[in-house]
Order: sequence, then C-alpha cells, then structure tokens
Amino acid sequence: KQANGKYLVSLIEGDGIGPEISQSIKDIYAAADVPIEWEPVDVNPILKDGKTAIPDAAIESIKRNLVALKGPLATPIGKGHVSLNLTLRRTFNLFANVRPCKSIAGYKTPYDGVDTVLIRENTEGEYSGIEHHVVDGVVQSIKLITRAASERVLRYAFQYAESIGKKKVRVVHKATIMKQSDGLFLDLGLELSKQFPNIQFDSELLDNTCLNIVTDPTPYNDKVLVMPNLYGDILSDMCAGLIGGLGLTPSGNIGDECSIFEAVHGSAPDIQGKALANPTALLFSSIMMLQHMGLNEHAAKIQKAAFDTLAQGKYLTGDLGGKAKTHEYAGAIIDNLK
Ligand code: NAD
Repeated sequence: KQANGKYLVSLIEGDGIGPEISQSIKDIYAAADVPIEWEPVDVNPILKDGKTAIPDAAIESIKRNLVALKGPLATPIGKGHVSLNLTLRRTFNLFANVRPCKSIAGYKTPYDGVDTVLIRENTEGEYSGIEHHVVDGVVQSIKLITRAASERVLRYAFQYAESIGKKKVRVVHKATIMKQSDGLFLDLGLELSKQFPNIQFDSELLDNTCLNIVTDPTPYNDKVLVMPNLYGDILSDMCAGLIGGLGLTPSGNIGDECSIFEAVHGSAPDIQGKALANPTALLFSSIMMLQHMGLNEHAAKIQKAAFDTLAQGKYLTGDLGGKAKTHEYAGAIIDNLK
C-alpha cells in the first residue's frame, strides 16, 4: 500500500487481445473506485546465459508489489523457446494453481448451478521436465512427487477452503496404480486434515471424478478438489467446459510471496485489434486477486455488476453469441455498478 492509500499492482497486459481486455479492467476498476494503481510491466523475454528469462525490471516490480494481473502471453512455437508462462511460474515459485468455475446466469450450458473449485499442484509431478532417451525406441519420463511441494499445495487447499466457506477438501488421485507417488500425496492430505478439524477430508480416484462430474457436477459445489499437476491440468479444463469454456474462467497462481492472477485463455490472434474480445475471464481473475488482497467489498460489487450484465444478455461479446464490442460490454458493467 502506498502513501496515497492505493495498492500498487503489477499489470502484464500481454499479447494479442491482452491490451484490449486489460483496458476494460482498467475502465471498470476506475469506475468502481478500487484503490489500486496499475504498474505496467513488460515481460518480453530476454536471453540470459542462453536461457529465456524475464527482464529484471519486471521481476522487481512483481516482487515489490506481491500481486500481478496478467493477460495472455503468446508462446512462439519451436525448439528452444521455454514458455513465458512456465518461466513466470518458476521465477516466482507459484506452487498452486486455483481454478474456480461457476455457472453464469444468461449463458446456458447443459449444466446448471456449477460451482467447482480445483487446485492444481503447479511445480512438479508429471511436469517436472525430467525425460531421458534410454535406448532407441525407449524414452523415460519421470513423475516427481515430493513431501515439501505436496504439503504446501495441500495446506493451501485447506486454507483456501476455509477462506471461501467450502466445507470439504477432496484429494483426486490414482494411488491404486501410482502407489508411491500419489500414495504420498494422499497420505499427506490425510495427515494435514487433522490440523483442519472444521474441514471434512476425503479422496476420490481420478477416473471416478471425471465420470461423476460430467454426470452431475453439483455434488462438488461444497468441495475444494486438490491434485497433482497433470490431473489438475486436464480436469480444470473439463470443469471450464461445464460452464461454457475457457473464455469465462479465471485462475490464480499462488506463490510463497507473490501471486499472479490470469485468464486461462490465450492471446486470440485471430480477433486481435477488432474489439471483439471478451474481457470476462481477465475480469474474474482480477476479482480473485481482489479477494486475495482482502478487498472483498470491491470484489463483490464488480462481480455482481458483471453477473448482472451477463444475465441481462443485452451487451454480450461475439463468443457468447452477442454483438457488443469489448468496450460496450465493459460499459454495460460500469452502468450496472451504479
Ligand atoms: P486462444 O485461447 O488464444 O484462442 C482459441 C479460440 O478462442 C480463438 O478462436 C479465440 O478467438 C477464442 N478466444 C480466446 N480468448 C477469447 C476471448 N477473451 N474472447 C473471445 N474469444 C476468445 O488459444 P490459441 O489460439 O491456441 O493460442 C494463441 C496464443 O496464446 C498462442 O501463442 C498460445 O501459446 C498462447 N496461450 C497463452 C496462454 C496464457 O498466456 N495463459 C494460454 C493459452 C494459450
């Protein structure tokens, strides 16, 4: 917090539609009198000792401000490019990826009343990047599970459940097959649950979770699901599908010190610069950020205005079947703030 009473937040506008959807957030926040000042941050990669790295100024900004809001970053395809998203995750040790999915009134999908929260271990597991060529035709990929990283994300899941008023934490796993790795993750969940007597703890096999969620997601509304990296990557997109896809879902990447909130979708180069982009996912990510910062009243006010605008259905962007431009949709949200 600064002397003027405002919090400084790093803003990575991102590529493609990033600047357009970021502008909507800035306009809505200004209209809602949110006590935030944005610090624009350029994360265009530089090469450091032959490796992709984020400029020092960007790292310093995020370290200083502790929170950042991030638009989509385009990842060049081809060898030698480490994804910037992965670089950010590693640089700030963002160990938990939080993905809530809540049904949006006014946007009909085959499922009603969805309210899932999924937390994915973000640093190891199947994505440790340890792969070997053993002999011709044989490769080996190592799934790394450590007590330290598992405990950290599991503890966060319990704390997050408490903070948002969910009563249960469920570990999703395949400990029947991955006896040692998922077994350790599961055991640690049970062990930690003793420190959180107000939260009920249980577990479910990943395949059962998939079947059960697409059959009826509503029994999952009172739970926070927590799981190793790969399962979370896949299952979180599946949950996004329940409410209408990646264009509507927010996410938070939580670290020991810094946290970065970002939309799940990409930079949408096909609609860049045409004012067709939907800023909802980035706006919802920013609402998670406000909650993380304890600015709950502002979060609730903006969330209500956005949900109202979507339910009214008059100013929807093209991806939701409407005709509104990005700024017209943002303008309708601003009108609903009053
Ligand atoms: P994408 O999400 O950018 O686009 C997929 C489709 O969804 C496109 O038709 C696009 O127009 C549409 N879309 C996405 N977001 C939208 C929005 N807010 N409003 C309206 N329509 C939207 O996925 P892609 O085309 O596979 O990837 C494009 C680039 O984005 C790639 O360089 C990729 O690496 C990058 N990417 C970045 C992130 C991230 O920064 N977190 C995530 C995914 C992809």
